[in-house]
Amino acid sequence: MQYIDKTNVKFKDRAYTLLDSFIQGQWQQSENCYVNLAYENFNNEKLTKWLLEEQEYYCCYCMKHILKEAKILKDERLIIKNETTLEHIIPNKSKNSLDYNKYSLYGEIRKSVFFWDESKMSSIKLNMPPFPHILAYENLVVSCNGEIPDQGKSKCCNNARGNKDIEPLFYVKTVRTDIKYDFKGIIICDPKYDQTIKFLNLEHQTLQLFRRCWLNLPSKYTPLDVINASKDEDLRNDIVDDMDISMITTSDKTTIKNSVYWKTFMNYFWFYLYKVEEKL
Ligand SMILES: [Zn+2]
Repeated sequence: MQYIDKTNVKFKDRAYTLLDSFIQGQWQQSENCYVNLAYENFNNEKLTKWLLEEQEYYCCYCMKHILKEAKILKDERLIIKNETTLEHIIPNKSKNSLDYNKYSLYGEIRKSVFFWDESKMSSIKLNMPPFPHILAYENLVVSCNGEIPDQGKSKCCNNARGNKDIEPLFYVKTVRTDIKYDFKGIIICDPKYDQTIKFLNLEHQTLQLFRRCWLNLPSKYTPLDVINASKDEDLRNDIVDDMDISMITTSDKTTIKNSVYWKTFMNYFWFYLYKVEEKL
């Protein structure tokens, strides 16, 4: 995983202007309160693009690269809409201000976010920051759509979490060393993060397989070869056949060669970069 820095003014200033404009636009002078101030009424398209750029197009949890496929398919807008979800760190629908207390320990949340309770709607116009948690830049990150190729219908990341209580690991400055991956693709971390990993379904066998294949990619191949192999079955077979059988089993090889799996697998090249940078 990688740390997400929410103090970068390049993204923060743009997001603040957009969110402030939407929120103040919901103020109804005749009612002397905000009307329909809800995340569901906010067009998140621009913000999603900026947050993706901020996160270098990686899912905040599983590290899937979201734009790679879009660039190949040349329909960026549609892909971003279908491939991403915006994750509320303090859940959007939370009715419990205790959630705020827990999450305020992370990132810039305490400084820039307050708990918005619709039932106690204020008749005072907001002066932001802080922003209400339902629409705060510091409370929003981009997650993938959570779709994992599988026999059944497995989900990961935001779509697996729902409103469950997790540790927002991308706001832990030492996340790079706190969350490690071994050559089998298994996550190595402090047991205090086990429940978070479980709720996000990050140890799903397919995600482990993707990580295992990237971490054991034979050195003569590059990520570009892997991407090209999505349309070149011979190359795909060569790459997989060259993988070390002691790490990638025959059953793994059969699975990963399947083009549906491969098209998702190729977007997890962050683990190749991880291996290079960590000198594994
Ligand atoms: Zn993900």
